[in-house]
Amino acid sequence: MRVEADVIIVGAGPTGLMLASELSLAGVRPLVLERHSQRRATPKASGLGGQILQLLGYRGILDRFEAVGSKNLVPASLPWGGVELDFTPLPESPMHAMPIAQALVEDVLEQRAVELGAEVLRGHAVVAVRQDDDTVTAEVRGPEGAYQVTAPYLVACDGGRSSVRAMAGLAFPGTTYPEINRFATVMVGDGVRVLDNGALDIPGLGRVEWGFTRTDRGVFAFGPAVEGRPLSVFTTEDELTEYDDDNPMTLEEMRISIGRVLGVDVPIESPTRLSRFTFQARQAESYRAGRILLAGDAAHLFPATGVALNAGMLDTVNLAWKLAAAVQGWAPEGLLDSYHRERHFAGVRTMLHTQAQVALRRAQDPAADALRAVFRELLSDRPALERMGAFIAGSDVRYPLTGDHHLIGGFAPDLTLHTDDGTTSIAELMRTARPVFLDLADRPELREVAQEWAHRIEIHSGKTDYRPADAVLIRPDACVAWAAGVDEPADPADLRAALTTWFGAAQ
Ligand SMILES: Cc1cc2nc3c(=O)[nH]c(=O)nc-3n(C[C@H](O)[C@H](O)[C@H](O)COP(=O)(O)OP(=O)(O)OC[C@H]3O[C@@H](n4cnc5c(N)ncnc54)[C@H](O)[C@@H]3O)c2cc1C
Repeated sequence: MRVEADVIIVGAGPTGLMLASELSLAGVRPLVLERHSQRRATPKASGLGGQILQLLGYRGILDRFEAVGSKNLVPASLPWGGVELDFTPLPESPMHAMPIAQALVEDVLEQRAVELGAEVLRGHAVVAVRQDDDTVTAEVRGPEGAYQVTAPYLVACDGGRSSVRAMAGLAFPGTTYPEINRFATVMVGDGVRVLDNGALDIPGLGRVEWGFTRTDRGVFAFGPAVEGRPLSVFTTEDELTEYDDDNPMTLEEMRISIGRVLGVDVPIESPTRLSRFTFQARQAESYRAGRILLAGDAAHLFPATGVALNAGMLDTVNLAWKLAAAVQGWAPEGLLDSYHRERHFAGVRTMLHTQAQVALRRAQDPAADALRAVFRELLSDRPALERMGAFIAGSDVRYPLTGDHHLIGGFAPDLTLHTDDGTTSIAELMRTARPVFLDLADRPELREVAQEWAHRIEIHSGKTDYRPADAVLIRPDACVAWAAGVDEPADPADLRAALTTWFGAAQ
């Protein structure tokens, strides 16, 4: 049997499902193939954080996540490489985070993708891929047997151990840190007493303060303990053992690990969450091999928590409209290649601060303690805190685009616009993921140029309370493609060049 699709997506994790909704929004038919017949029960991410929250707000679907997770929060502090970042001195936090289980994120994304017309097939494993000049073919093993799917493009969203990446011949260089991290939410058993200030009295060991306890066998950590309430416990041990992600961690494994690190047995019971992970720092050398592209964990693995979903889902927002343009046949030369250029660049930025965290966190001697103390001190300064928050949120990224205006290459700020038809905002205008040209200072010579691309972009004029530019051109991924300086002459030829680069020939 042979099936056809506009785009094949391998993997129904958060990356594959986000890509499916963004592609559907752009008007193409994605087919998502997922090897597991049901969503896995193994707990993974416990929250969404960073710029993706703003993007989901721009798409008008943040409330769907809030309904099953919790309200978009501004965390007072975040752990960073063994140092606590305290954002409370800042008037506005540079980092937003929403506690929500990854399985719920996937539920919401899948529902949205299906509503928009995507097809998601579970129990369908891609076992081989091949491509020629015009198409990609995936060999699939489904519940009814083997079959083939053919499409102009295929995106590997099949996770860190991506077999599609290997089949496409894309190298994934980097480091696997020789450690296993284990995390559990449990009740402490008989004999362990909760003391003042959230500390524990552990039989055979005595008082252990909450936070990180380093021994020569690893690290044990827990949050402030409260009598009768579940406790989050964590261990890191240097180990080279491989484990299978599909083989969930057990309570016994956690207990044995704590015993190895502390040298005494700590009774724990009634787990509500059990997970383990190994940090890797890896990035695919190229996010594209012909008609096969990579996104999410298949493209990058970062060695610190809290950034992977943000990076992977933002990959798909960058990729979807470019891929749709290629499928629909109007993509200008080089548009699809800009996906690798921009998202690999963003990945390098994320790698920079997550690898720095490894150096700070893993080092174990007095010099390392001194380095952590110096960082703690530096990170109490506002500009350093703001910079670090932007780093973690991914909002420091400015794609290397043509033009000098400070907005170009960055995420479009959410301005309120007063137009002849009423008040709107950039967030509202980005819901449909259509490109937008905004004239904010009555610049008819620029509007006239934009009008030549009216078949591809929306054109709006209005006034803003705060005017960072006289006019802006915003791509569907909310990246500012071009901007005119405030009260400065702008060359319409520059706008014309930007429109041609991103949206092809004029009408
Ligand atoms: C314990 C733990 C805690 C974490 N905490 C956080 C956190 O707090 N914040 C954060 O941002 N990230 C966190 N992460 C990382 C986050 O879970 C991953 O970055 C995220 O799952 C990556 O999404 P993905 O869609 O790219 O890949 P995956 O979620 O791995 O999804 C890939 C999908 O592809 C399917 N697949 C694979 N091969 C095939 C094939 N051949 N055919 C068909 N389907 C296939 C798989 O079954 C899977 O469903 C955590 C991870 C772990 C393990």
